[in-house]
Amino acid sequence: MRPFSYVRAGDTGTAIALVAEHPDGVFLAGGTTEVDLMRQDVLRPGLLVDINDLPLDLIEDLPDGGLRIGALARMSDVARAPGVIDRFPLISQALVLGASAQLRNMASMGGNLCQRVRCSYFRDPASPCNKRDPGSGCAALNGFHRGHAILGVSDKCIATHPSDVAVALTALDAVVHTRGPGGERAIGIDDFFLLPGDTPQLEHPLEHGELITAIEVPGAPVARRSVYLKFRDRQSYEFALASVAAAVQTEQGTVAQVRLALGGIATKPWRARHAEAALLGQSATAASFAQAAARELAAAAPRPMNAFKVELAQRAIVRALSTLTDGER
Ligand SMILES: Cc1cc2nc3c(=O)[nH]c(=O)nc-3n(C[C@H](O)[C@H](O)[C@H](O)COP(=O)(O)OP(=O)(O)OC[C@H]3O[C@@H](n4cnc5c(N)ncnc54)[C@H](O)[C@@H]3O)c2cc1C
Ligand code: SF4
Repeated sequence: MRPFSYVRAGDTGTAIALVAEHPDGVFLAGGTTEVDLMRQDVLRPGLLVDINDLPLDLIEDLPDGGLRIGALARMSDVARAPGVIDRFPLISQALVLGASAQLRNMASMGGNLCQRVRCSYFRDPASPCNKRDPGSGCAALNGFHRGHAILGVSDKCIATHPSDVAVALTALDAVVHTRGPGGERAIGIDDFFLLPGDTPQLEHPLEHGELITAIEVPGAPVARRSVYLKFRDRQSYEFALASVAAAVQTEQGTVAQVRLALGGIATKPWRARHAEAALLGQSATAASFAQAAARELAAAAPRPMNAFKVELAQRAIVRALSTLTDGER
C-alpha cells in the first residue's frame, strides 16, 4: 500500500470541498470496495475523506409511498426497514442476496452504487485494462470472460456491473441525489450508470468532489408484488451470473403493469424495456414471458465462454414472472 492522507469530515460541505480541492481525493464510506482496491494497488488515492460522520443515513417513507434512502444507510439497515420490506420487497431481497452479513453491515448504499467491477483483469495491475488504464487494451475480450457481459458491451470493455440493489433500483426508476462543488443535482438511475463505449473508465456522471446524498424511490404500488432472483455459482457470498428484478400487476390474467431489470449480464444495471413493452397487454403465461425474454436478449453479443448467459437470462426472466403470477394461472 502507498502512503495516503486521511481526514474525517464533520459536515457535508467540508467533505465536498476537501475532495474537490485534492486532485487525488476520494470519499470513504464503508471502505469495502475502496480499501480492497487500495490494497491491490489498483486505486491510489492521495487523500481519503471519511464521510461516516455526515447525517446521511436516514431511511424515510415519502408521502407518495416512496422512499428516501440516505447515501450512508447501511445495506443491512435498508434490507430490514419495514417500509422497504412491505412496499419494495425486491430491494430488500436484492440487498440480502448481496455480499455477506458482515459486509452488509459495513457497506453503504452510496458506496454500493459506486462499487467497481469484479473483472479479475481490472483487479490485476499487471494486465491490460482500458477501465483501469485507458488505452491499454482489454484482456477479457480474448481471455477468461465467463462472468462478463453480453448486453451493453463495447470493444473496449465487457465487464458486468456488479451491484444487486442497483438492479432493483433501476426497475423502480430511482433517482440519485447529489451535492457537489457546482450545487445539487437529481440524476435518474438509468442515466447514472454509463455504458462503456469508448470510455470505460467513466462509469457514472459524478464530477470530482460530487457526493451522493440520497437515493429516492418513487411510490410504485406494483412493487408490492415483486421479487429479486439471483443465479450464481454458489448460493452465498457470490456475484450474479444473471439476476432479475421484477414487479408485475395483472388484471384478469393479462399483464397490466410490469417492471423488469437484469443484473449480471450487462455493463450497467439493465432495464429490460423491450421485454416490458412485449409483456404489456399480453396474457400472463410462460409462453408470453418466454417471448418477451427472447426479445430482450435479441441484442445480446456473447463471447465464447459466456454464451450460456443468453439462455440463463431468458430462463431467469420467465422464472421471476412465473413466480409472481403463479397463483393466478
Ligand atoms: C467479498 C465481497 C463480496 C461482495 N458481494 C457483493 C454482491 O454479491 N452484491 C453486491 O451488490 N455487492 C457486493 N459487494 C460489494 C459491496 O456491496 C460494496 O463494496 C459496497 O456496497 C461498497 O460500499 P462502501 O460503503 O463500503 O463503499 P466504499 O468502499 O467506501 O466506496 C466505494 C466507492 O464509492 C465512493 N463513494 C462512497 N460513498 C459515496 C458517496 N456517498 N458519494 C459518492 N461516492 C461515494 C468511494 O469514493 C469509492 O470510490 C461485495 C464486496 C465484497 C468485498
Ligand atoms: S472487461 Fe473492462 S474491466 Fe475487464 S479487462 Fe476489459 S476493460 Fe478492463
